[in-house]
Amino acid sequence: MSALNHLHIYERSSVNKQIYRCIDPYCTHFCNKALLLGKAAKCFKCGREFLLDAYDLKLKRPLCPNCGTDSISLEGKKVKEFLEEMMKDEISI
Ligand SMILES: [Zn+2]
Ligand SMILES: [Zn+2]
Repeated sequence: MSALNHLHIYERSSVNKQIYRCIDPYCTHFCNKALLLGKAAKCFKCGREFLLDAYDLKLKRPLCPNCGTDSISLEGKKVKEFLEEMMKDEISI
């Protein structure tokens, strides 16, 4: 029983919400959420490498920026629209 030397695919532990563990059946790696910020991981969905950010660490299964759920992309769209509105205001002044 040991942690494998690979990029881990994380899933939040159902027992302790501060802990993320690797879903690989042969890997016993787990890590405290606070220590995972900025670390590389593999996307749960597509397997691509990405860096974990604060938002990912709120999710049960962190996803790369390309995947992510509908609600995330919707939120991103809202932010973009908001920023565009701000820009418009600045230009008209
Ligand atoms: Zn692993
Ligand atoms: Zn992905």
